[in-house]
Parts: sequence; structure tokens; C-alpha cells
Amino acid sequence: MKPREQSAPDMVGVDLGGTKILAAYVSADGTIAGRAKRPTNSHSGPDAVAARVAQVVSEAIEAAGSSLEKVSAIGVGAPGPLDPETGIILTTPNLGWKNFPLGPRLAEHLGKPVVVDNDVNVGTLGEVRFGAARGARSAVGIFVGTGVGGGIVIDGHIHHGASRNAGEIGHQVIVANGPRCGCGVRGCLEAVASRSAIERALRKKVKEGVRSSLESKLKKARAQLTSRDLRAAYQGGDKLVRKLVNRAAWYAGVGAANMLNLFSPERVVIGGGVAEAFGEPYLERVRESAREHCFAIAYEASRIVLAELGDDAGVLGAAAAARDRLAEAPQRVGASTAR
Ligand SMILES: [Zn+2]
Repeated sequence: MKPREQSAPDMVGVDLGGTKILAAYVSADGTIAGRAKRPTNSHSGPDAVAARVAQVVSEAIEAAGSSLEKVSAIGVGAPGPLDPETGIILTTPNLGWKNFPLGPRLAEHLGKPVVVDNDVNVGTLGEVRFGAARGARSAVGIFVGTGVGGGIVIDGHIHHGASRNAGEIGHQVIVANGPRCGCGVRGCLEAVASRSAIERALRKKVKEGVRSSLESKLKKARAQLTSRDLRAAYQGGDKLVRKLVNRAAWYAGVGAANMLNLFSPERVVIGGGVAEAFGEPYLERVRESAREHCFAIAYEASRIVLAELGDDAGVLGAAAAARDRLAEAPQRVGASTAR
């Protein structure tokens, strides 16, 4: 490996998910030189998971043929709500944690500064720096999968807001008094556009006697549909599935339109399992709906594009978030280092 300048430090980006931990050794230009992956095993508790994250970081460094000394900082994308200033995870239904100091704990393990930020925030930042919104100064990410996550990047940086937890795009209300969302509110984007929302609507219709090619799959106890199941039914001409997926895309377009009216970003990046499964036709539907639901001037100044990086958005964005923080406020990143 050639030596790197101080201004172009190497980073390790981590994507801490409910089922797996991904880590990548990332150079300043976004090249991934090494990767590692392990199951999260969240039932083992936060301390054990933190130790495992540290281990995956070490494995990614080893895979890159580098050493910890060459790493300036570690960025972690984690499920929130969390405090990006202190690296404390406030609550995560995903992992079952409460007020766990993930950043400080990792800094103890690794002896390096650690920056923790929301997983979808860093996913959005990853797409802005290295993916579908490359070159944009402002972008909004909307990731449609089991739920709907998102992030807002303004002037090249993640917008955290007063609560430090801004960017909950999946919980903007789209249908007042609509279906109940996991967050307790009715009619959130997540409750009408996610894969779970499509599945819930499908189950209801099938129960009412509407035919679908997915009936037998739905009847199997606890069987959950995947985005791939939905795509197969959609492409096979299942009328009910087509109707529900198109409606979900239409709602995602309403969510995008709201973001266009509020922030007028240069790009709206649409990603996640549902968007990946349906691709361009889904995106076209989102665009049509967005055009219909916002000011023409905001729509025309923006481009609605498909995410490009898949799973890499998280690790690349986490590395970028760490690099940014180190450049802006090194003393604050240092504060999460063990003493
Ligand atoms: Zn909600």
C-alpha cells in the first residue's frame, strides 16, 4: 500500500444491522480495499456485540493488508434513535438496546476515534459521495424495504436537526388517519409504502376473497413475503399485487414530493429492497406521483434516481461521516476516544 497523506486518511466504515455486521476498509476516494462480515447475534447483548464490531473492524483492516495505525477513525452506521455527538444508542427496537455508549465502547476496544450515526443517514451520505447522487450538494434518500428509512444531506452534510435525529422520512404522514404505523402514528409513509405495508394490504384483500398468486404462500403460518416473491407475482401479471405495489410506489412519490417542496434537493435517491426488486418501472411510478404532488419548480430542479451502491452505501457513508467529523471537529471525535 502506498503511504497516504494526512488530508486523505484511511477509514473503516461499519454497517451495524439487526442480523449482520459489515465492515469495509475505505480510502479517501471511496475505494474499498478490504471487507469483513459477521452475524450480529444481538441476543448476546450490547457488550458482546460491541466486541464483535471491533473484531469485524480488525478483520477488514487485515483483509486490506493494512494496520490499525493507518486508520484515522472508524465510522459506524447503527439503527437509531441515537446521539451522533456522543455515540450513544438511545433505543433500538432492532437490537433491544437502551442508552448504550456504542461509540465510547468501540473507541476503548480499538484505541481510535469512533463516529456513530444513523444507518440510513450514512446510507444517504454514501450515495451522495460515491453513488447515485455523486456531485450533488443536497440530496434526500428514501430507502423502501421492510420499513422506510431516509436521510437528508444539505450542503454536503447530514442534517441532524435540534433532536439530532432528523430525517425520519418514513414517518412523515401521507394518509391522515390511515393504517397504524409501528411508531404509533397513523398513515406514515412506512405504513403505506413499505414491503410490510404491501403485504398487510395483500393479506387483507385475500381474506376478503380477492384472488392472488401468492395466496398459498400467505396462508403458511408466519411466512413473510420477500421483495422477490412480490416481484415474481408482479411480473407474472398478478392483478392484485400489481395494484398494491403501484399504489405503494405512488405513496412513495408523495413522500418524495414533500421532500422536494421542503428542501428542493438536487437529487432524491430511491433505494432499499423494494426499489431494487422493481427497478426502473417502480421509479417511473414514483416520479409520476412526485411530479403530480409538488411544485413544478422543485421537481424540475431535481432528479429522482435509483440508489447505486446497495449494501456498500452504509459502509462507505459511515467512513465518509467519520472523515467529515474528523475534519470539522477533531476534538469532538477525540472526546469519544477512551482515556
Ligand atoms: Zn411512523
